[in-house]
Amino acid sequence: MTDCLFCKIAKGEIPSDIVYQDEKMIVFKDINPQAEVHLVGIPREHYINIVELTHENITLAQYFLSKMAEVGSKMSGGNGIDNGQFKLLFNTGEKIGQSVFHVHAHILAGKINEDARV
Ligand code: AMP
Ligand code: ZN
Repeated sequence: MTDCLFCKIAKGEIPSDIVYQDEKMIVFKDINPQAEVHLVGIPREHYINIVELTHENITLAQYFLSKMAEVGSKMSGGNGIDNGQFKLLFNTGEKIGQSVFHVHAHILAGKINEDARV
């Protein structure tokens, strides 16, 4: 999708601090972190939310979810942060707090801001 922020990040047209990437997906640091570790993971392909992704491409959804669990588990291990303990969440819909309409999962680990939006 031409006018999508996360499509642009996936294509490298907008810079991001990448922690994991492969041919199907990319995980980068959230620009406005709400926790000691706050990452955002996206499939490179554009789907508006996790419901659409699961409905339209279950194979990619399964790959994405399992890879996010793996990245979350690894990334929450460093800097004295408790090993393998993290939140994995999808804001789905504007009223619940989704602001970018390209499916993404947040990984939050370590100390989380008390007034975190996510
Ligand atoms: P959500 O509010 O669930 O739609 O999450 C979107 C997330 O993307 C927010 O936590 C933003 O801080 C984050 N975000 C927006 N723009 C960027 C960017 N250019 N690089 C990294 N993270 C971003
Ligand atoms: Zn997109």
